[in-house]
Amino acid sequence: MTPDEQADVLATARALAEEFAAAGPAADADNRFPTELVPRYRDSGLVALSVPKKYGGLGADIWTTTLVSKELAKGDPAIALAFNMHQTMIGIFRGLLDEPMRERVFAEVVDEQKIVCGPFSEDRAGLTGLADTKAVPDGSGGWRVTGRKTWATLCLGADLVAFNATITDPSGELPTEFTDHAAREAVFVLPIDSPGISVVETWDTMGMRATGTHTLVFDGVAAPADAYGGNFRNGLFGEFEWASMSFAGVYCGLAEKAYAATREILRKKSLGATMEGSDVALKGIGYIQHGLGRMLVDTETAARALETTGRILLDGRDAEWNPLARTGLLDVTKVATTEAAIRVTDTALRLVGGSAFRRGHVLERLYRDARGGPFHPLTTDQAYDLLGRAELGLLDGA
Ligand SMILES: Cc1cc2nc3c(=O)[nH]c(=O)nc-3n(C[C@H](O)[C@H](O)[C@H](O)COP(=O)(O)OP(=O)(O)OC[C@H]3O[C@@H](n4cnc5c(N)ncnc54)[C@H](O)[C@@H]3O)c2cc1C
Repeated sequence: MTPDEQADVLATARALAEEFAAAGPAADADNRFPTELVPRYRDSGLVALSVPKKYGGLGADIWTTTLVSKELAKGDPAIALAFNMHQTMIGIFRGLLDEPMRERVFAEVVDEQKIVCGPFSEDRAGLTGLADTKAVPDGSGGWRVTGRKTWATLCLGADLVAFNATITDPSGELPTEFTDHAAREAVFVLPIDSPGISVVETWDTMGMRATGTHTLVFDGVAAPADAYGGNFRNGLFGEFEWASMSFAGVYCGLAEKAYAATREILRKKSLGATMEGSDVALKGIGYIQHGLGRMLVDTETAARALETTGRILLDGRDAEWNPLARTGLLDVTKVATTEAAIRVTDTALRLVGGSAFRRGHVLERLYRDARGGPFHPLTTDQAYDLLGRAELGLLDGA
């Protein structure tokens, strides 16, 4: 992508972010994914953002895609996180799918503006748990898929669903040995309106409510041979940056939105007459100045971590990392941005005061949305754990 093309997509994202900002408060209050924004997202041209140019897409690199996520999140982080799932999947598909499937899916995304969701996690365990969803061979080269995906962000706005399922033997029994189970996990891509796929509206959470992360049920869904996209574990984790960077972009945008809203309130808010004076402006109080400065440092640190990791990936310097710790090292940026978002929104409420604690206040919503950050894979504690083990030489068996 040329610098001019990058500037164009960022301008598009900023314009769309204004619509996200307008829709965000009601979507949160009503606990509803705003499906009316799906045609707007298609019209924006961003659907093909990260599809490589050789497949007819806009060819955004990972850094540009991350910046777009950040800009959209400055409008509304929950709505941005929903559409972000499409870009995460497209980015992962650049390496995950077998080539014939990749060509077909990218053609549908470019020519028909199809949107993809990626529910992999299940109830028993998150993304790192092995799929209980079964793909039972149907005897003619395809499978029958049965299972429940409990984290299906964007499912109400998607045309295609990418998911993992464990290919069983013809009797439908899951492998009992976990290495065999992992080796049999495959990725499939199907139209989301395939007979037997249904959405159960289970999403009711403290934050990120507008993502519409409902449950997707597969009940004996026919998956033909050409729905098979390759091995799941090797593929997905090899393209992990498209997940970690896009989540980081959203939460960085969230922190910047919270910081900007707080600064505007603190510049204007007056306590009126207090024991200290007849008209006490918040901006004149020392700890308010200090607190806002700390918020800026947190927000800036997150943005710089994001940009640095983007540069490292563009330069290919991640090749110098310990491959066994790669997902954890990528997750450094997700951890930095999501923890910054939590701290920034927490401080924002303290500085602005009790009005920000009321339902409907933008900072109250951002505070709740920020709490979703640690759950995105790798979960923040998994990342700490992996990195600690790597540093102690335990990953190499040393
Ligand atoms: C807003 C939002 C949207 C989401 N959208 C999607 C989506 O579209 N698609 C999707 O697939 N997922 C999605 N997720 C789910 C996310 O991927 C899961 O939260 C994640 O996989 C963790 O699963 P879990 O939260 O159920 O926790 P669990 O996996 O049940 O973890 C429980 C505890 O065990 C720890 N743990 C888990 N696995 C390991 C391990 N292997 N080693 C050591 N410790 C471990 C965790 O850190 C945690 O402390 C979304 C999450 C959020 C918050």
